Formats: sequence, C-alpha cells, structure tokens
Amino acid sequence: MESVLVSACLQGVPCRFDGRGKASDAVTAAIGDRRPVAFCPEVSAGLPTPRRPAEITGGDGHDVLDGRARVVDDSGHDVTEEFVDGAERALEAARRTGCTEALLMARSPSCGRGTVYDGTFTGALREGDGVTAALLERHGITVRPAPGA
Ligand code: SF4
Repeated sequence: MESVLVSACLQGVPCRFDGRGKASDAVTAAIGDRRPVAFCPEVSAGLPTPRRPAEITGGDGHDVLDGRARVVDDSGHDVTEEFVDGAERALEAARRTGCTEALLMARSPSCGRGTVYDGTFTGALREGDGVTAALLERHGITVRPAPGA
C-alpha cells in the first residue's frame, strides 16, 4: 500500500504549540486509501507540547536551511536548531516508510507549503515554505498543503 507523510496534528495528535490537534474530514479524504504516516517534526526534535509559538524571521524555510534566516519563538529564543533537526527527522521518516508525498499543515514554520507566517506574530503571511516542507521538497518529496487546514 502506498504511504503518505501527514502532519501529526492533522491526524488528531495533540502536538500543536497550544497542546491541541486538528483532525479534519478533508484531510482524511485527501489521504484516501493510502497509509498515513503521522509525524510532527517539532515534537520529534524534542520541543515540548505545549510550547511558545515560533515563526521564521528573515525569510522562509529554504532561507533557514541555507543559513540566511532563523526560527525564533515569541520570547526571542532561537529554536532554529530544533526546527532543522525536526525537518531532517521527517525526511528520514518519509524515506524509511517509502513516502513520495507529504500532506502538511498550512502556514506552519515547519510544515507550511506556499505560505508561512511572516515572523511578526501578527498572523500576517509571506510566500514560502516551512523548514520541513522545504527540506522534503529539496529531496524529491511532493509536499501539498492539507485541504482546509
Ligand atoms: Fe503540526 Fe507540523 Fe506543527 Fe507538528 S510541526 S504541530 S505536525 S504543523
């Protein structure tokens, strides 16, 4: 059976910064008859739940991977290392389970695809990818933003 990597919060795992999950029927429908591999890059890297919200400052996930931008929480603490580590663990999980596609949570500094929060903690968005989405894309995994997320 084909496997698809899915943001764990979209499978109802309570791993978001606010300690909640966000399961949805639209995501279940998008998974279809494939086997979902639920994964949370931030928790896999050892970040706690709940945790302070974090955003990418100075670019998007590609800029983080290239050392041009950082991930910082709303207290100013730099969590770039954890976000990059979580992205690498997500790539390992995708490879280990044979996933060629990932269905990831929209706007997240880890999982966002196409748009992410802009680093101002105001809810404003910028074009770009989260750190995990960027790393997966760079390694040939098709990343899609989850519908309705
Ligand atoms: Fe969900 Fe991804 Fe954030 Fe984990 S890192 S809570 S999987 S959006």
